[in-house]
Amino acid sequence: MAIQFYNTLNNRLEEFQPLEPGTVRMYSCGPTVYDFAHIGNFRSFLFADLIRRFLEVMGNEVIHVMNITDVGHMTDDHLADGGGEDKMEAAAKRLKEDKKSGKVPEGAIENPDDPYQVAEYFTQAFLEDARKLGMKIAFEYPERIPHATKHIPEMQQMIEQLIAKDHAYVGPDGAVYYSVESFPEYGSLSGNTLDQLREGSGGRVQEADQVNKRHPADFLLWKPDQSHVMKWDSPWGKGYPGWHIECSVMARLLLGRDTIDIHTGGEDLIFPHHECEIAQSRGASGEGSFARFWMHARFLMVEGEKMSKSKGNFYTVRDVLSGKVTGRDVHPAVLRYELLKSHYRSNMNFTEKGLKDSAGAVRKLNEFNQQLQAKTGGKVAEIDNSHPVLAEFLAALSDDLNIAGALGVLFPWMHNNNDAPEEALAVLQTINRILDVAPMEHEQAEESGGAAEGGLDIEALCRGIDEARASKDWGKADELRNQLQEAGYEVRNSPEGTVATKQLA
Ligand code: AMP
Ligand code: ZN
Repeated sequence: MAIQFYNTLNNRLEEFQPLEPGTVRMYSCGPTVYDFAHIGNFRSFLFADLIRRFLEVMGNEVIHVMNITDVGHMTDDHLADGGGEDKMEAAAKRLKEDKKSGKVPEGAIENPDDPYQVAEYFTQAFLEDARKLGMKIAFEYPERIPHATKHIPEMQQMIEQLIAKDHAYVGPDGAVYYSVESFPEYGSLSGNTLDQLREGSGGRVQEADQVNKRHPADFLLWKPDQSHVMKWDSPWGKGYPGWHIECSVMARLLLGRDTIDIHTGGEDLIFPHHECEIAQSRGASGEGSFARFWMHARFLMVEGEKMSKSKGNFYTVRDVLSGKVTGRDVHPAVLRYELLKSHYRSNMNFTEKGLKDSAGAVRKLNEFNQQLQAKTGGKVAEIDNSHPVLAEFLAALSDDLNIAGALGVLFPWMHNNNDAPEEALAVLQTINRILDVAPMEHEQAEESGGAAEGGLDIEALCRGIDEARASKDWGKADELRNQLQEAGYEVRNSPEGTVATKQLA
């Protein structure tokens, strides 16, 4: 079954095959940890999770990497040149003023002046939300979720390579800029030309820019700045990296290739962020391709406007789950379903009605699962992807992740099902490896009731993880988590602490 994805690089559907058969290397731009991620961000993240889970069920190993931006993302980054204030520093200031707003519990961040503490707090909050929503990669922290601040030396190396290859230069102000004119294909992802960019920037070209940059679209790679709170020694003076360089560096480092298969993000990242990533990565590697497929999720909207942190019109995952938005608690599986159920290339409008419908759908899936469990005692038939229902479900997803088409196969089948129960359960479990909405967490949680299984005391391991986390012993927490995962458990955070649930499939 051929898989087709829409590739922003060429603005058309293209057949997808990984460069190395059976192994997909995928990079997703992750959160900037200066606030709680909102459900719009999670729409983009869950879109990446859907691609991953789908490709896994199709028989691939997916190596998925997602960064944590904890430095260098400036408030004016949409202008491509790295102007404005650092978002982490700005957040530290805001948090100090904002302390009484109640959003961040009093004392949760010991010193809100310290951007590292701010970043740590919101990183943990992100991971907690992501695990609740079933994002697989969140269970692979920190191995597959690197922090920008942990890879400054590698960024400096890439900047040096770019200078050596005449793709970058040190401006009169001492900052290092990427020269967009040195990379003739700059603009090809977003459909911009250098002339348009020059004109577009006409009104706002700062005098300083004219002095320091060769072209107004040249963007920052390193900024010497003694006054910045987060700063590192470098050949260009103490300072900090531009935002774009981190993704080029961490993609290459953690995926181990100059050319990767898929790169994802929200549509706002196409320009300048992804355009700049391509220029950096290809400039440094000399290869003809950085990411073979660029896939972008459209925005989640509220009242016709993009949900965004800077506009302040956003709902966090915790707002939605705790009932602050709708007046009643929402199960994480319901929010996951809601954020997944509309096609990634259409805007999605977040509504209470939508959430209600999703709750109904998730309930149906769970009831069906329970019926089958009762009939089969949990025994499943052996099937493969050629099973007719599964084949149809996967064929829909193979068509650029046509989720509506896939759900349109699933629900009528459940309704009219007359497959043997053990076969139906096998189909449902395979589908649930992609959707991950049934069985719902509270039912699964009973499984970790403390019994020892196969020599492992699951409950004791969970409490061990909680203790290791509380004392910030991440190594220990990871080790215990790995033990559980190897025994076939999915490990997630819950308000009551770590919960381990036996993976069904
Ligand atoms: P940020 O934390 O702002 O760097 O964004 C993290 C990810 O969320 C990026 O891939 C953005 O493109 C994406 N994103 C931001 N706002 C929205 C939205 N309203 N809907 C969907 N994705 C979004
Ligand atoms: Zn990125």
